[in-house]
Amino acid sequence: MSYEQSYLYKLRHSAAHLMAQAVTELYPSAKLSIGPPIENGFYYDIDFESPLKEEDLEKIENKMRELSNLKEPIVCRPAKDKEEAKKVILDETTNGQGPENALYKLQLLEAIPDGDAVTFYEQRATDKQGKEHAFIDLCRGPHVENTSEIKNFKLLNLAGAYWRGDVKNKQLTRIYGTAFETKDELEAYLHNLEEAKKRDHRVLGRELGLFMFSPRVGTGLPLWLPKGATLRHVMTDFLQKEQVKRGYEPVVTPHIANIKLYEKSGHIQTYRDKMFPFMEDEEKETYILKPMNCPFHIEIYQSQLRSYRDLPVRYAEFGTVHRYEQSGEVTGILRARGFTQDDAHLFVTPEQLQDEFIGVVDLMQTVLAKLGLKDFRARVGTKDPGSDKYVGHDENWVAATKAIMDACDVMKLEYEVSPGDAAFYGPKLDLMIKDALGREWQMGTVQVDYNLPERFELEYIGEDSKPHRPIMIHRAPFGSLERMIALMTEQYAGAFPFWLAPVQVAVLPIADRHNESAQQLADRLRDSVYDTRALRVEVDDRRETLGKKIRENQRHKVPFMLVLGDRDIEAGTVGVRHRERGDLGAMPLADCLKMILEEPDTTSDPA
Ligand SMILES: [Zn+2]
Ligand SMILES: [Zn+2]
Repeated sequence: MSYEQSYLYKLRHSAAHLMAQAVTELYPSAKLSIGPPIENGFYYDIDFESPLKEEDLEKIENKMRELSNLKEPIVCRPAKDKEEAKKVILDETTNGQGPENALYKLQLLEAIPDGDAVTFYEQRATDKQGKEHAFIDLCRGPHVENTSEIKNFKLLNLAGAYWRGDVKNKQLTRIYGTAFETKDELEAYLHNLEEAKKRDHRVLGRELGLFMFSPRVGTGLPLWLPKGATLRHVMTDFLQKEQVKRGYEPVVTPHIANIKLYEKSGHIQTYRDKMFPFMEDEEKETYILKPMNCPFHIEIYQSQLRSYRDLPVRYAEFGTVHRYEQSGEVTGILRARGFTQDDAHLFVTPEQLQDEFIGVVDLMQTVLAKLGLKDFRARVGTKDPGSDKYVGHDENWVAATKAIMDACDVMKLEYEVSPGDAAFYGPKLDLMIKDALGREWQMGTVQVDYNLPERFELEYIGEDSKPHRPIMIHRAPFGSLERMIALMTEQYAGAFPFWLAPVQVAVLPIADRHNESAQQLADRLRDSVYDTRALRVEVDDRRETLGKKIRENQRHKVPFMLVLGDRDIEAGTVGVRHRERGDLGAMPLADCLKMILEEPDTTSDPA
């Protein structure tokens, strides 16, 4: 059953009306417009005479509770036609404020096609003091049967919203709220909202020194700070090693290219609204900032004659691309205008397609396991039959879609089909990851593509000495470095697994006279080989109290803090603190090092 058919949907729809009723009782001059249920709750857009403040929400909530407690039925009241409906709106919904109060509702009524049924949400109650509460609102429903069902709700926040979404219209006040069937569900949701705020990668990214934005650089263009850049290096290093094991070869390609390349690839026809404005040089050649790496890798493939014995060819590149996301849609590094894909393109024969596809999915699963992301589902994005935003022949799409589904069946990987979620050149398999708060993120992707090889007339010479067309696989296990770092930051609330932590060990000298010993200890630790890499160690020799140094390194979620004072230097020990296990006391250096090197790669969820 879809959400739109569920009881929860009806409940939230009704809660929006209950809120509107409370608002009109408290603010009789407020003009109602629309109030639909949405994914996690509902909202209502209302035109207030004087601006509403966040503090006012509690008052509205209390009024809602009062109305809900009257336990009165909610009725669907039909109108004979639009003429009658207009009379109901003017006579019964304006709170004695005159026809101007019904301004938005009358426009909504007008938009209903003549002959269509017009119905109202109607609710009448009398309280103990004998006061009548009547509320009538133009609406198709569906609603719950009684206001007493609307018990577990919460008003969340205010936002501005233009009437009909048009900036030329008046800005209304949008009140967001949510409602659930049970108190427990509501509380769990509110708890997760609080957690999500604390874990917001934009907040943590700044606090942990991972990345920043500057208005002088531009919207959606992150600057990576030393700790964030270190994190990127560790992630790319890990993936590069996995790729070498699996027969990938590295390539590097430019950030811009001639428009001709993108005409050939089909980007100009189908992707133009996501591309930055074009550049023209003195010779009147047009250049484009690359939104995707594929055509470059295709050029490299095509630069020499290929035989079936050369295939599969697997070209990998951490390719930085730029896409012109609407400024309103840019969200930290989750949705940025410049980002780096862990991209690769495989050129394969039809016989190799299934094994190579399975190999890619296996790599993606290896990556997720290493990152500690265990909860995921697979989604096959197919073509939307009603859209013309795709390139290529139908038989190619059918073959590519079948190849993906067959490979999933061989792997016994369950998947859902999502029409309209394909890339413009082919269908794809996405891994959807559920984070610690139960939110879903679309991450790794693998695409099967018969169309770009055709557009570029790619070939290899087969065993029969005749030319054949290869099939392309596009894949990105992280999705992009930025997306994955955003997810990891929120998943772990900044406490990255040990192998990823930008600083793994902080050495804290107690006083200036311990600085030299601290540097020596740090050097010794850096020489220690952890998982084929040197440990990442920082000495915190700022002139701050030990307490402050500990608090700050703890806030930065540094896995180990090693405190060094007179007694430690004399005895050859070090005071060890672990970010999760707390103060572990003094221990000999050798024991401490052994413990650090044995630190597990995964981390318990610190929440
Ligand atoms: Zn309704
Ligand atoms: Zn590609």
